[in-house]
Amino acid sequence: MKIGIIGAGAMGSLLGFYLSEHADVWLLDGWQAHIDAINAGGLRRELDGVEEVCHPRATGDPGAIGPCDAVLVLVKAHQTAWAAEQARTLLRTEGRGLRIESKDSVLSPRASALGTLVVTLQNGIGNREILAARLGEERVGQGVTALGATLLEPGRVLHAGQGATVFGTDPDGAGAAALAALFRSCGLPAELSDDLDALVWGKLVVNAGINALTALLRVPNGALAVVPQARALVEQAVAEAAVVAAARGVRLPDSDTLAHVLIVAQATGANRSSMLQDVLRGSPTEIATINGAVVREGARLGVPTPVNALLVALVSALDATADMRVRDSP
Ligand code: NAD
Repeated sequence: MKIGIIGAGAMGSLLGFYLSEHADVWLLDGWQAHIDAINAGGLRRELDGVEEVCHPRATGDPGAIGPCDAVLVLVKAHQTAWAAEQARTLLRTEGRGLRIESKDSVLSPRASALGTLVVTLQNGIGNREILAARLGEERVGQGVTALGATLLEPGRVLHAGQGATVFGTDPDGAGAAALAALFRSCGLPAELSDDLDALVWGKLVVNAGINALTALLRVPNGALAVVPQARALVEQAVAEAAVVAAARGVRLPDSDTLAHVLIVAQATGANRSSMLQDVLRGSPTEIATINGAVVREGARLGVPTPVNALLVALVSALDATADMRVRDSP
C-alpha cells in the first residue's frame, strides 16, 4: 500500500516513520534540507533517548510520487490550499482505488471504487473544508491525533507525546477503518468515531486553551496549569470555547472540559506547543483556525468570546511582527 504524506514537519515525519513499517510511505515537503537528510541518511526517530532509523522516500515534487492509496495532510493551516493542489497529483480517481490491507482489515470493493482517500489530521477548524472544496467532499476525511512530535533537526524527529489517533468515519465507512487498522498494525493506537464534530471540537477546545497562551507567554504547556495568572486565562478561553461548542450542539467528549484541558497541559508539561514553536521560529501560526474558529462560530451563534478574540488579536500581531522581533538585549 502506498501512503502519501503532504507536510513532513514534526507530525508528518513521525507518522511517516511509524507507517513505513507496513506501507510504502512518500513524504512531500518544501524544506529541502529535511528532504535531503531523509533521502541521504534515513528518517531518524527519537523516543525515550533511543534513536531508530527508517527509510521512507521524501521529495518536494508530487510528480515523483504519483497516485497513492491514501494521502495524509499534515501541513500547517496556512499551507492547506497548497496541500490540496499537491494532492491532485497523488489521487487515483478510478481503477484500483484505495486498497489498504493490514493485519486486521482489507477494504471492501465499494471503497476501492472511491479512489484515494485524503485525510487531514491537522488541528483547528476549516482545513477539511478547504481540501473538500478543491478535491471533492466524498474524497476528504478528517481525524485528530493526540500524538506529539517535534522536529529536532533535518531528518530527525522527537516522538514527544503518546496518544490515540481518531478517524472520523467516511461516507463509505471503509477507508477510515482501513487507515485506523494500518495505524494499529504499525504500533500507533487508532480508533474510529462517527461524531466528527465532537472529535474536532474536543481537540479544538484543548488547543484554544493551551496554544495561544503558551505562545504569548513563551512557556511550556505545564506552566499554564500551575501559574495562577496563566491558569485564569486558560479557564476563560476554555469556558468560552465550551459554550460555543454547546451552542453548536456538540457533545464534548469530557464533561469537565476545563479539568481535561488542565490534565492535558500537565501531561504534556515539558512540551512547547506547536504555536509556541511557530512563534519562536518566526513561522505563521494556526491562530485563525484555532481561537479564530471559536470567535467566528461564537459570532454566528450569538455567543460572546472576548477572551478568544483578544488572543486572536495578540497572536495575529505576533505573526505580523515576526520580522521585527527584538531577540537580544541591547
Ligand atoms: P511543523 O511546524 O513541524 O512543520 C510545518 C512545516 O514547516 C513543514 O513543511 C516543515 O518541513 C517546515 N519546517 C519545520 N521546521 C522548519 C525549519 N526549521 N526550517 C524550515 N522549515 C521548517 O508542523 P507540525 O507540528 O507537524 O504540524 C502539522 C499539523 O499537525 C498542524 O496542523 C498541527 O496543528 C498538527 N498537529 C501537530 C502536532 C505536533 O505534536 N506537532 C500534534 C497534533 C497535530
